[in-house]
Amino acid sequence: MSSSSVYNNRQGFCVPFAPILKKLPTDVEAIVQRTLVMSKKLDIAKLKAKTAEGVDAQREELIELSRRIHQNPELGFQEVKASGWLTEYLQGNHFQVEKGICQLATAFRGSFGSGKPVIALLAEYDALPEIGHACGHNIIATAAVGAAVALKSAIDEAGGSVVVIGTPAEELYGGKAIMAERGAFVDIDAALIVHPSIVDMASIQALACIGLEVEFRGKAAHAAAFPQEGINALEAMIQAFNGVNALRQHVRERARIHGIITKGGEAPNIVPAYTAGSFLVRAEDDVYLDELKRKVLNCFQAASLATGAHLDYKWTEYYAPLKTNRILAEIFTENMESLGRNVAPLFERALGSSDVGNVSALVPTIHPMIAIAPPDVLPHSPEFATAAAAEEGNRGLLDGAKALAMTVVDLIAQPEIMARIKEEFFAAK
Ligand SMILES: [Zn+2]
Ligand SMILES: [Zn+2]
Repeated sequence: MSSSSVYNNRQGFCVPFAPILKKLPTDVEAIVQRTLVMSKKLDIAKLKAKTAEGVDAQREELIELSRRIHQNPELGFQEVKASGWLTEYLQGNHFQVEKGICQLATAFRGSFGSGKPVIALLAEYDALPEIGHACGHNIIATAAVGAAVALKSAIDEAGGSVVVIGTPAEELYGGKAIMAERGAFVDIDAALIVHPSIVDMASIQALACIGLEVEFRGKAAHAAAFPQEGINALEAMIQAFNGVNALRQHVRERARIHGIITKGGEAPNIVPAYTAGSFLVRAEDDVYLDELKRKVLNCFQAASLATGAHLDYKWTEYYAPLKTNRILAEIFTENMESLGRNVAPLFERALGSSDVGNVSALVPTIHPMIAIAPPDVLPHSPEFATAAAAEEGNRGLLDGAKALAMTVVDLIAQPEIMARIKEEFFAAK
């Protein structure tokens, strides 16, 4: 674990992050000083209009970049082409680019400006197995770079910095969780991402989540001739499933526990000597997640005791619950509405988990959604993949880039807003 981490990823425990907490008073004070110097001079509306024009000026290039990523889907940590094209685009627009950050070959950081605040736009660009860009990450990535490039003149005028952080493998491995542990967000003041969806929304809710890999080892025997000699690892797994099913009746409403058997035995006439399974445990906060972890593990240990099959287990990827910064979400909503979009109120129901949650534990964050398809088109479906490169998808990409860029203008040009955002963040710690 790096010194910059707030998480012990293996255990999923939140621990205090002293360096950031200590920064608060001087940060806010410096921000207030900047406000006094800057706020008289800047015409925010003009800066935003210029920034939005900066997105339109890139229209053809952004749509082409989005189309290219869409037509070349790459799985998590294999996004060589996408990260190459995105960094090329940033370099071509005079961004300072570092590739392979956090010891991840397809992660990157492209920055413009050198002052505070430093605002991160998160880019995802991984695809799904079989159905390609059915989550529309081609739009996330292109909106992030488009917004960043459009912000150059506002940064020249108002100061501050914009950083595109290329975060691989959202779908399968949680690249941001690894990057958060390895210090990718230490100098960042706020993080934003825009994700294609079927609604316009300023931020989503996401549950804390942790993976559990389990294995039972029993003893093979002829299932009919010598069953009394065998130890049935599959029965252990089935008992564990039944235990989890019984537990599920008595968990809180927003908790989720679900899993699959990845190895169930060799043949019906052999007592299964080995089974393996993969589970996810989700809860609305880390405290309840820890309670559920203990209870779920009890189900597996009880099954081991009952059957005599030996249990091995490993807790794997941990996603922190997504903490939406409300002030940041309000500002994003205003900017999205100025583009003629109807923004839905913040959703109280969590729809899953995201590695953006791990970023939100470190810095003020929002995870907005932008509509690119009608409500009956489900994300992670082939129809959604089609929408992600169709006209509606391109409109979402351009509006998403504009809403991101205009929100960054608010943050760099109105330091009092940045101060309020930070105050909310630290108050919620
Ligand atoms: Zn997805
Ligand atoms: Zn996605």
